[in-house]
Amino acid sequence: MADEKGTKRFYCTFGQDHHHEIGGVIYDKDVVLEIEAPNKELAHVLMFKYFNSKWSMCYETRPVPRMMALFPGGIIPFPPEEALVDLGWANSWKEEPGLVEKCRSLGHERRGWDAGPPNRGLEHVVICDICKYVYRYDSSD
Ligand SMILES: [Zn+2]
Repeated sequence: MADEKGTKRFYCTFGQDHHHEIGGVIYDKDVVLEIEAPNKELAHVLMFKYFNSKWSMCYETRPVPRMMALFPGGIIPFPPEEALVDLGWANSWKEEPGLVEKCRSLGHERRGWDAGPPNRGLEHVVICDICKYVYRYDSSD
C-alpha cells in the first residue's frame, strides 16, 4: 500500500479499566485521543508504544457530536513531535537505511515486539526512541 507523504488523523479510545497518565494528562475511557500517523497500522504501533495493549479502538473518522457525549473529557491531541519515520518492511530493503545503520553504530537500545496475528509471532516491530523510526519485518520464510 503506497501512502502519500503526510499523516492522517486517527481517533483512539480506551476501555473502562484503562487508565494512563503521561505528562500530567489523564488518558482513560472519558477521552478520545487524536493521533497523527501515516496509516492505521502505525497508529496502532504508536498506541502500543505508549499504552501497551491497554486501549480500545482507533477510528479513521472524527467522532460525531452525538458520539462525543460518551467522552466528557473531549478530544486530546497526542504530541505530534512523537511522529515516527516509517521505514516499512525490512524484508523489502535492498540495503539497510542510513538511519538504521547510524543507529546501530551508535549502539542505541531499540525496542521490539511481535505484532503478528495471534499464535503466529512472525511479524515484528522495531522502534528506536532516539532516532524516531519504526520498521517491521516478517520472519516467516
Ligand atoms: Zn537509534
